[in-house]
Amino acid sequence: MSEHNPADTAASPNPAGRSQGSFSPTPASVSAAPRLNPAQQQVMDELGSTDRPTFRDDLRDHLRFELEESIGQAVSDALADTEQTLFLSKHKLGMLHGCEARFVAEEQAEFAWSVPSARGTVAHKAIELFVTRRGNPSPIELTEDAMARLEADNRSISEFIQQLDEAERADLVGKVNNFVSTFIETFPPLNRKWVPVAESRVRADLCSDKVVLQGAIDLSLGRARGNEAGKVLIDLKTGKPHSSHIEDLRFYALLETMKLGTPPRLLVNYYLEAGQPRTEKVTEDLLWSTAMRVVDAIHKLLDLTAGTREPTITASGVCRFCPILDDCETGLAHLQDSSTAFTLDNSD
Ligand code: SF4
Repeated sequence: MSEHNPADTAASPNPAGRSQGSFSPTPASVSAAPRLNPAQQQVMDELGSTDRPTFRDDLRDHLRFELEESIGQAVSDALADTEQTLFLSKHKLGMLHGCEARFVAEEQAEFAWSVPSARGTVAHKAIELFVTRRGNPSPIELTEDAMARLEADNRSISEFIQQLDEAERADLVGKVNNFVSTFIETFPPLNRKWVPVAESRVRADLCSDKVVLQGAIDLSLGRARGNEAGKVLIDLKTGKPHSSHIEDLRFYALLETMKLGTPPRLLVNYYLEAGQPRTEKVTEDLLWSTAMRVVDAIHKLLDLTAGTREPTITASGVCRFCPILDDCETGLAHLQDSSTAFTLDNSD
């Protein structure tokens, strides 16, 4: 296991002599830095590009104008006489563009923590501690520290952690420890010169604060110089790639652009189990199409909140996680078909 402390790590070496782009170490630091394994080197190669596009200065203003123009009247009609604020996260955005019936059901269901849902929150806290702590804390120390901090926090997860029995607690610690260990083993040691920031919050307040777009970026590296893009946004993922993951990052790229005025240069979904980054360059077209996706979602959200139409039903693999699956013929039929197709595919 690679033990590391961003505070102590001067830089990463390049044993294969390949370009490390904007994350290149200085010659003095190379001799002192640990060797990279091939998984870490792949991340360096894909994230360390010197390609830094420039964007026009007024992009942020144009994006805000178009967003507010496209939703302003509908928001005003729906919320003018209320104190209500519409919040849109990447999770809601994804669900609104998937099965609307599931979205409505999840909005009405009371959220309850479980070991699988707590795993991500604890793991991200542990990575946040990893980025900022001095010394060489082990993954298990980071995990236990993250658990202790969340347990003492004034959040709903505190109560959940406090009520875990020993076996459940060990299960959660084991899963998070695995997540953190894999990140440390497969991601290059973080150099403080790369400006690593974990759990960076972004939000955009629109339409006189009646609409809030918000999120938290797992990890960002680098920064913009003027209107020259330099930041890399990274989402850490367990499980296999899904098209919704890149949509999530595009949403964050939009929020980052509306915050800074200069977009990030690269979006990265980092799949921990495979040790594989999937990257996408940020372009102005990408930001505009994401802004229009947000506009569509807000109109859907207003319609569904007001109950002016029935939610649409769209079956997919996520049906198996839907709270109303037992009562949904479409979802049950889809999963039955999928499992039949899978059985036939594997029959020989
Ligand atoms: S089971 Fe599937 S199709 Fe049915 S409401 Fe849930 S997500 Fe939609």
